[in-house]
Amino acid sequence: MTTERDYYEILEISRDASEEQIKKAYRKKALQYHPDRNPGDKSAEDNFKEATEAYEVLKNPQTRQVYDQYGHAGLRQGAGAGGFGGGFAGFDIADALRAFMRDFGGFGGFEDIFGGFGGTSNRGRTVHRGRDLRVDLQLSLEEIAEGVSKKIKVNYKSTCDSCNGSGAANEEAKKTCPQCKGSGEIRQITRSLLGQMVRVAPCDYCKGDGTIITDFCPECHGSGLVDDKKTITVRIPPGVTTGNYLTMSGEGNHGPRGGPPGDVIVVVTEKEHEHFTRSGDDIVYEVPISFSQAALGTKLNVPTLAGESELNVPAGTQSGKVFKFRNKGIKHLRGLGRGDQLVRVIVWTPTKLGPEEKKLFEQLADNEKINPPRSSKSFFEKLKETLGV
Ligand SMILES: [Zn+2]
Ligand SMILES: [Zn+2]
Repeated sequence: MTTERDYYEILEISRDASEEQIKKAYRKKALQYHPDRNPGDKSAEDNFKEATEAYEVLKNPQTRQVYDQYGHAGLRQGAGAGGFGGGFAGFDIADALRAFMRDFGGFGGFEDIFGGFGGTSNRGRTVHRGRDLRVDLQLSLEEIAEGVSKKIKVNYKSTCDSCNGSGAANEEAKKTCPQCKGSGEIRQITRSLLGQMVRVAPCDYCKGDGTIITDFCPECHGSGLVDDKKTITVRIPPGVTTGNYLTMSGEGNHGPRGGPPGDVIVVVTEKEHEHFTRSGDDIVYEVPISFSQAALGTKLNVPTLAGESELNVPAGTQSGKVFKFRNKGIKHLRGLGRGDQLVRVIVWTPTKLGPEEKKLFEQLADNEKINPPRSSKSFFEKLKETLGV
């Protein structure tokens, strides 16, 4: 999907912005909307893609000129107008991330494991890069709290041993491409909105390889790749959240015809926990107690991410009171230290009373000392007081 919004508007720059200003404006947007900083947020992802697309067009004086004169329509015809290669039809989040990494490197945390995005073509013969593979990884809160090493099985395409990735049955089956004479590229003269242009493109007859194959390898049927399996180990740092991802550089599909391999992108999902909910790097646990426990005080055994801890509930505790176990939460992804465990105590009201229990409560009902204080204050003031806020 490509945007139709004005590229200058997206980056919030004037139409005569300098290259430096374009770069600066894009960097700001990219850092704001980077998926690593907005895990699981689809609109942030779209904004990131949109900003990157705008940047990719405007930073290049040639495409910028086409865009300035003819707008988005100009870019769609761009294949003939300056070698823009069919515009951004297939521009996806992986392309956007790659573009960002290429020009700005990473930032904190994941940057060391991003890296290694190889180019997909060089001069002359096309180099086919292997495909990136996405692997989803579910993690428990316990694993996230401390960080974890995981072995993951990956189904991928590896280089065919029989033909060494060439795709040919034997050496004689490899012939120099008659159309490009082995160079892998063709020159075309095209007329476009900008006048007569010389366009250099990958040869369509050999798909840029420079050779054609007359007899395919029986093992891989000419692709040069076969199905394979492997197990790789991923080190997950503590403090990750759903939507965070790690790039295992070079672990994806091997490239056809000896091209560089793609990456494995491991996307993290946090499993729901039976006891805890997560709030940033804190974990929250709710525990019901009885009227009498709240009034008289009690000691409770409360689960934590690492075994049980004792919670001392003092006499006179109100429903909703939050107790804190310091440093019993999740380790921070960036920086030292860790979050806390928050234990919220809820006074549980019995719903089914037998005649005996009913009598007990009726005795309590008339007692001044165990009813909330009455005063001339407004309902909301009283409520605030009761809740202790
Ligand atoms: Zn050719
Ligand atoms: Zn083969």
